[in-house]
Amino acid sequence: MNVRSQISMVFHLDKCIGCHTCSIACKNIWTDRKGTEYMWWNNVETKPGTGYPTAWEDQEQFNGGWEVVDGTLRLRSQSKAKSVANIFHHPNLPTMDDYYHPWTYDYQHLFTAPEGPDQPTARPISMVTGEPCEIESGPNWDDDLGGSPIYAEHDRNLDGLTEEQRQQLFAVERLVFFYFPRICNHCLNPACVAACPSGALYKRGEDGIVLVDQTRCRAWRACIAACPYKKVFFNWSTGKSEKCILCFPRLETGQAPACFHSCVGRIRYLGVLLYDADRIEATASLPAEELVGAQRDMVLDPFDPKVIDAAIANGVHPSVVDAAQRSPVYQFVKVWKIALPPHIEYRTLPMLFYVPPMAPVMANRNDGVTNSSTEELFHDIESARVPMKFLANLFGAGHEGKVRYALRKQKAVRWYRRAVTVGDVDMATAERMLREADCDVAQAEAIYRLTSLCTFDDRFVIPPMHREEALQMLEDPMEHKGSVGFGFTAPPQRGL
Ligand code: SF4
Ligand code: SF4
Repeated sequence: MNVRSQISMVFHLDKCIGCHTCSIACKNIWTDRKGTEYMWWNNVETKPGTGYPTAWEDQEQFNGGWEVVDGTLRLRSQSKAKSVANIFHHPNLPTMDDYYHPWTYDYQHLFTAPEGPDQPTARPISMVTGEPCEIESGPNWDDDLGGSPIYAEHDRNLDGLTEEQRQQLFAVERLVFFYFPRICNHCLNPACVAACPSGALYKRGEDGIVLVDQTRCRAWRACIAACPYKKVFFNWSTGKSEKCILCFPRLETGQAPACFHSCVGRIRYLGVLLYDADRIEATASLPAEELVGAQRDMVLDPFDPKVIDAAIANGVHPSVVDAAQRSPVYQFVKVWKIALPPHIEYRTLPMLFYVPPMAPVMANRNDGVTNSSTEELFHDIESARVPMKFLANLFGAGHEGKVRYALRKQKAVRWYRRAVTVGDVDMATAERMLREADCDVAQAEAIYRLTSLCTFDDRFVIPPMHREEALQMLEDPMEHKGSVGFGFTAPPQRGL
């Protein structure tokens, strides 16, 4: 057992209001420099939709992530032969059109325009050519189903849905959608790290944060092609790759990452998970339908004395074990099993998990009449407006079992709380629903509290980062080139 600690995250999608505050917080802190205009380390997508960069989930086009060939795990975009053939031009990289043409405005014109009959306007100016331009795309271009026929209908997660289910999503005035905020998943099996020919990307030994060493990056951009989530970006000004650093300078001083801290819907949770790194390759090689359960099995019980001993023997500080025992992510992922990794079929083993949305239907509109009466308090999850198959494509590698489990438990908790607080649902029915959803009253109360009444301290259990201890995990990334690596490119310079 090779016990490692990993900072990991949960986003509760039913609580996201799509306000983009998280994206702006990140943008203002990290990507306001030259060359980073188009970078959104945090972005919020509307689902169904094609996201940012456009159609990033289409791996036939982008070839990201891992695949199993003859029982062996291998990168789709990169190999020894491909790294030579593709070194000056990678055929699977997104282009500027897949992102968008960054622009600014001619603000000065607002002050210097000559007097005239019209109000002066600030025209958009291309940040690439410096010429006036027409804005044709942006990072949230398909927000709230704007342009649905172009964007939403091309969502890859609609694959396998019947025509009736598709129509259910797109019927005019019966539209349904939810928000999908995305950051780097700081994966356990990061394709970006494995693909880098220069060994510039690395996974920090003590907390699993995936970073790019700016001094080693040689602009090959193999990481961008390999990351199936397209969460590495290329800075055209510095000639280096950049990505989400999970605000490690904030974490090292005990503060939550900026996007977590600023989240208006309080959808974000952060905590430590202990896991068995010896099982990464075997887990990532399993058939798609087993991946979600197998990744969950890799997460170890932080109360188990054997796990604690192995963790401490491996250099994990006792205070980190203590943080793992209080981790909200452990509760959501391992104990309650209601948080699921996105697109685990890419086999990078993401460490950002999502609680799938129930998206309850509160009203519908037919023939111009809005009807908010309903026979049941909440719809049956099988007939939810977001089809189960769609959520399964996003969170279950196409398999519905784990998604259904998460939704049933959430519904039972809501039903139970309704019985407690309003009393129009009888408690015997609520308790039966809890039992059927593999939940009891104590767990329902705990889910309710961490979902609805949580404070900063409940949501963010940040361990002391122990950079001084991390020396024990130092490894040379060049020796581990092509693997998913743990360690640093240079010894840490300071302690706590
Ligand atoms: S492969 Fe995973 S760790 Fe690497 S950039 Fe993509 S999401 Fe982040
Ligand atoms: S700040 Fe929170 S609620 Fe707002 S879009 Fe971001 S994740 Fe959603």
